Amino acid sequence: MDIDIRSLPSPCYLVDERLIRRNLEILKSVQDRTGASILLAQKGFSMFELYPLIGEYLKGVTSSSLFEARLGYEEMGKEVHVYAPAYVDGEFDEMLTYADHIVFNSFDQWNRFKDKVKSYPGKTIECGIRVNPEYSEVATPLYDPCYAYSRLGVTRANFRPDELEGLDGLHFHALCEQNSDTLERTLAAVEEKFGEFLPGMKWLNFGGGHHITRPDYDIERLVRCITHIQDKYGVHVYLEPGEAIALNTGYLVTTVLDTIDNGMNLAILDTSATCHMPDVLEMPYRPTILGAGQPGEFAHTYRLGGLTCLAGDVIGDYSFPEPLKAGDKLVFTDMAHYTMVKNHMFNGVNLPSIALYREGEGSKVVRRFQYEDYRNRLS
Ligand SMILES: *Cc1c(COP(=O)(O)O)cnc(C)c1O
Repeated sequence: MDIDIRSLPSPCYLVDERLIRRNLEILKSVQDRTGASILLAQKGFSMFELYPLIGEYLKGVTSSSLFEARLGYEEMGKEVHVYAPAYVDGEFDEMLTYADHIVFNSFDQWNRFKDKVKSYPGKTIECGIRVNPEYSEVATPLYDPCYAYSRLGVTRANFRPDELEGLDGLHFHALCEQNSDTLERTLAAVEEKFGEFLPGMKWLNFGGGHHITRPDYDIERLVRCITHIQDKYGVHVYLEPGEAIALNTGYLVTTVLDTIDNGMNLAILDTSATCHMPDVLEMPYRPTILGAGQPGEFAHTYRLGGLTCLAGDVIGDYSFPEPLKAGDKLVFTDMAHYTMVKNHMFNGVNLPSIALYREGEGSKVVRRFQYEDYRNRLS
């Protein structure tokens, strides 16, 4: 990393605008080559300081709640798509003020809300239904929308071909951090089950989970998948990746607070797996730290833990060339997506500050959190 972190607060997320731009260039090239539209899935990354920049490249946002829809509408001001497993009656009217596309998770939801959508004054809101292709290659059940009895999307057995009047598109989401060969096989399942309904539609939304900005991602195959669907059915294709926009664009800068020994060397950091990097526990995975190695690779191995009282608030085992001591900085990589959006203040642990590095301007702290942010959520 070529950024000087010494002046940053700790802990602090640091997002590098140059790397966001690099990802956006790749995504835009897919749009330019295919005519498809790519949306930011705010669920994965909602650092709205960057929405004006993201809006220069992508067509808009997708949202899974009223608040996400409003954030995208107010901070980016481009297309706002919404999908949620169910809509809340008391929120739906306000949702319509922000939405351009609404995707329903069941035919009962579609029937319940369709008159409201279709009679909304002043703009045409397009509607879709989420289908479940009952095919996915996601190994972690927590992140697999197609596991048995999944509530996400209508299966072919429950699809109601006689209730499609007024629907403009279909939506599926069955990928997670995957390459385009998985997309190709998933699309075959979508076509087999739902292809007969596509000629009557305006669009097909491929959902998220496309790891497009990963170095080994096969973009040529993605382009072939998109043009195949567009040519065969005459529909417009949407993709709504979250992770791919912010993949490998940010860091979490942390500090060692203490080191202890309980049969092995332990270090406590001013961050927390459960509060600040919850996917470390949920996925689970072991994040990378700049300059650190696998256990035993360097002379000094430590188990790194967070400062909550949760016994399992453990980040992982790492080795370092020198012994760790209080005050040392540790920098975790790839911490921009699915971190800020999932954080919480369990145990009253404060959230990391948020900083942005811009070419020519250097690093700027764009948000710090304080006691009031904690207190205001509790009563
Ligand atoms: C989570 C989600 C996305 C974004 O997924 P990524 O893995 O971040 O690309 C897009 N669409 C839907 C419906 C989702 O649930």
